[in-house]
Amino acid sequence: MQSIGFIGLGNMGGPMAINLIKAGFIVRGFDIAKGKIKKFERYGGLPAKSVTDACENSDIVITMLPSGKDVREVYLGENGVFASEIKTPFLIDCSTIDIQTAREVSGKAEDLGLVMFDAPVSGGIMGAEAGTLTIMVGGAEKYFENVEPILRVMGANVIHAGKAGNGQVAKVCNNMILGVSMIAVCEAFVLAEKLGLTHQKLFDISSKASGQCWSLTSYCPVPGPVPNSPANDKYRAGFTGQMMLKDLNLSQEAANSCGVSSALGAEAVSLFKLFEQAGYSDLDFSGIIKMIRSRSV
Ligand code: NAD
Repeated sequence: MQSIGFIGLGNMGGPMAINLIKAGFIVRGFDIAKGKIKKFERYGGLPAKSVTDACENSDIVITMLPSGKDVREVYLGENGVFASEIKTPFLIDCSTIDIQTAREVSGKAEDLGLVMFDAPVSGGIMGAEAGTLTIMVGGAEKYFENVEPILRVMGANVIHAGKAGNGQVAKVCNNMILGVSMIAVCEAFVLAEKLGLTHQKLFDISSKASGQCWSLTSYCPVPGPVPNSPANDKYRAGFTGQMMLKDLNLSQEAANSCGVSSALGAEAVSLFKLFEQAGYSDLDFSGIIKMIRSRSV
């Protein structure tokens, strides 16, 4: 039986690690926040004392961390993954981070004779709990089959996207579509409110017309039409405005690095910055409808 070292047991990493335990893997977890370890232990996870402890006793290492800075620290730091006596050549980073960091850390892994994949995910906490994430994977294709079965425990769609860093390329492109489309859907609902069309009618029509998109039909930003969307729970995240702003900033960093014009992506950054300044950044990102409504006369 394979054992897995799992570092970062937060909103996403916690349920992903628990699904691996349920699938029969031995999982050693580490998180700097003690409370996260307790929940993981209740499901049969083994607590690790440190990054090194999680790595040295595992066949595969998975990380799920907030940002590129955390990924650098956990892999390259003094007591990090690369400083450990690891048994495995296989490392998987599922965090959403900048493409440059993903490529640099993976390059360092290669220098050490290790194989690293960037494997960011889409599908939110609900997808992490249900094991139905979409996972986009960058890294050496010839070794993909060594990690694919593990990724399939956590995701319903696991897609190899090309060389190292390409998982992050796919993720920033996807989340730029998501950020922009959510704003468009929110503006449409506020416009419909002003002009006397009910939420349900706009949903019934647009979900069957050319305005159909995931932000409307799976994550509807008004209560009612999609019963489990965060709008029905006072916009409790879910995927926070702060995280969406992080991902949109990554998309603009990437666009600027290769000279791509991204006017709507840039505008989405401005609007999610205003959302943060208005004190809403811990709300789900679909809560931006509250700000759009409050800015309308
Ligand atoms: P989170 O903040 O809930 O979890 C991150 C965890 O990492 C925390 O528990 C934190 O204590 C831990 N951590 C930070 N530094 C660490 C270190 N040095 N060593 C060990 N543990 C450390 O965040 P999350 O919602 O789980 O998101 C994780 C990643 O997944 C992010 O990159 C995010 O952009 C991405 N993501 C999130 C969602 C979502 O809906 N929340 C969806 C898709 C992708």
